[in-house]
Amino acid sequence: MLYKRSSQLFAEASEVLPGGVNSPVRAFKSVGGTPIFVKEAKGAYLYDEDGNRLIDYINSWGPMLLGHAYEPVVTAVVEKAKKGTSFGMPTELETEIAKLAVSMVPGIEKIRFVNSGTEACMSAIRLARGFTNRDKIIKFAGCYHGHSDSFLIQAGSGAITFGAPNSPGVTQGTAKDTLLARYNDLDNVRSLFEANKNEIAAIIVEPVAGNMGCVPPQDGFLQGLRTLCDANGTLLIFDEVMTGFRLSKGGAQELFNVKADIVTFGKVIGGGLPVGAFAARNEIMNYLAPLGPVYQAGTLSGNPLAMAAGLAMLSDINKNEGLFDRLEQKTAYLEKGIREQLEKAGVVFTINRVGSMISVHFDATPVVDFDTAKNGDNETFKKFFHGLLQEGIYIAPSAYETWFITDALSYEDLDNTIAAVGKVAEKL
Ligand code: PLP
Repeated sequence: MLYKRSSQLFAEASEVLPGGVNSPVRAFKSVGGTPIFVKEAKGAYLYDEDGNRLIDYINSWGPMLLGHAYEPVVTAVVEKAKKGTSFGMPTELETEIAKLAVSMVPGIEKIRFVNSGTEACMSAIRLARGFTNRDKIIKFAGCYHGHSDSFLIQAGSGAITFGAPNSPGVTQGTAKDTLLARYNDLDNVRSLFEANKNEIAAIIVEPVAGNMGCVPPQDGFLQGLRTLCDANGTLLIFDEVMTGFRLSKGGAQELFNVKADIVTFGKVIGGGLPVGAFAARNEIMNYLAPLGPVYQAGTLSGNPLAMAAGLAMLSDINKNEGLFDRLEQKTAYLEKGIREQLEKAGVVFTINRVGSMISVHFDATPVVDFDTAKNGDNETFKKFFHGLLQEGIYIAPSAYETWFITDALSYEDLDNTIAAVGKVAEKL
C-alpha cells in the first residue's frame, strides 16, 4: 500500500501545525514514518487520502463503539445543526441525555457535561478537593487522565516521594500535590495514605488501564482502593473515559461491582463529538456551582450537536441487548487468532484484554503496571505496526495504546486481520 499523498499532506501540515498534528501521538513519532491522513470513514473502515481502505482498530481512540458514521448519530447531528449549533442556554436535550446516563450508570444522581475527557478529570479533581477540603491526590504511574497539570506527573525515585512534572510548564507546586502509586499495588497505596494522613482528597484510577497498553485490575485491586478510600475519608474517582459505556452499560463499576464516588466520562458518551462528563451522587454534585462553591463552566458545554450525538449513541447502546456479549465474543475471537499466529511464528508476547479493550505487548512477562508495560520491545512493535499498515490494518501508532474493538467489525474483517498478523509475525 502506498501512502504518498498522506506524506505530502503531512509535510504541508507541519508548516502550520506543531508537528503536523493537533494531538501528539497522531504524528507517528514512536513508530517512525508519517501519519495517514483520513478522508472518510464508514463502519469498521477508514478510507485515506491515497485511496486505501484500512480496518480500524483505534476507532477515534474509543468513541466509535458502533462504527464510523453510525447512521442514528449522523442523522441526529444533521437534524440538530439545522436548528442552531450553540445557544449557551439550557436545552431539554441536556436533561434527556443526563436522565439516560444516570439510569445506565450505577451510583450517580447528577451529571455535568463538559467538552473533553481532560476537562472531566480536571473538574472531578477540583470537586473532590473542594468537597473534602484536602489538596493531595493519588494517581497511578502509566494511567492517563488528560493533559491538565495535576496529571502530567511521573514517578520520582521512590514510591512515596512527591511526583516530578514530566512536561515543562507543570510547576513543582502542582506536582507536589500529586502522589504516584504503582497500578495493582495496594501496599504502595496504603503507604501513601500512612505518609499523608488526612491529606488525600481523592484517588483517581483507570479501572481498566488503557494508556500503558491494556492493563486489567488484578482481583481485589479496585475493591481494595474502595476500602482504603472509605477508611481515610478519601473520594474514589473512576476515570471511565475509556471504559464508560464500552465495558458494559454501566461501565467498569458495573463490570467489577465496585462503586466509585465520582465517575468521569468521555469518548463513547459523545458518539464522536467533543464531549466529556463527570457524575456523582447528589451530596457531591451539589457542591458544584451554581449550587455550591466549586466553580466549573463552559461556553460550549451541553452543546446541542454534541448532546444529540451522545443521546443517539447512548440510546442505541441502552436498547442494544446483545451488544456487550457480541463485543466480548468478537474480541475474544481476535485475541485467540492473534495468539495462535504469534505462537506459530515463535514471537515472544503477552496479550491483555478486558471486553473490547485489547493490546499486544512484545515481552513474555505479565504486564500488570507501568514498569512491566515498559519492558515491551518497541522495535518489534514498530515492525508489527508498519507490517499491519501495509496489510491495510490500522492499530494505534504506539506500543502504549489499547486497541478499541467496534461492533461494526465482521468476522471476515477479524479473519483478515488474523491472517495479516500471521503474515507480519513471520517477519518479526
Ligand atoms: N482519561 C482517559 C482514561 C483517557 O484515555 C483519556 C484520553 O485518551 C482522557 C482521560 C482524556 O480525554 P480527552 O483526550 O478527551 O481530553
